[in-house]
Amino acid sequence: VAGVTECVFCRIIGRELPAKVVSSSPAAVAFLDVAPLAPGHLLVVPREHARHLHELPAAGLSGLAAELPKLAAALLQVTGADGYNLLQNNGAAAGQVVEHVHFHMIPRRPGDGLGFRWPAKQYRAGESEEILERFKLALAG
Ligand code: AMP
Repeated sequence: VAGVTECVFCRIIGRELPAKVVSSSPAAVAFLDVAPLAPGHLLVVPREHARHLHELPAAGLSGLAAELPKLAAALLQVTGADGYNLLQNNGAAAGQVVEHVHFHMIPRRPGDGLGFRWPAKQYRAGESEEILERFKLALAG
């Protein structure tokens, strides 16, 4: 049936589901995450439905990106946070639960206990050069 979708973020965009919408533009909608990592945690979503960033047309992404600086400035002002993280999960392996592209904008303060495990690795000899070549081939296609 037209206008009915399973996608929770499409339903928020279409005002079929309630949300605390802080801004709305032709390209993107920003609203409070219902289960925030900190008060003021925002989700910024493109109006256009795509599951993953790599499936989102560039125009949709650039329209969303244009909204980010003013949203971030407002987030800092409203929350009094010292910084913020932008986090964008793609695929279940990366922690994505809602399959509509979204950017988390998360207020941060020193000692807030948030963060990312960051167990950095080292490349084996020659490995980074090989990967670089494979990227060049992939991007040339
Ligand atoms: P992710 O794990 O990156 O897919 O994150 C999905 C986020 O969407 C989670 O932080 C949820 O708390 C949030 N979320 C899910 N449903 C809603 C909703 N109806 N309104 C606001 N935020 C939601």
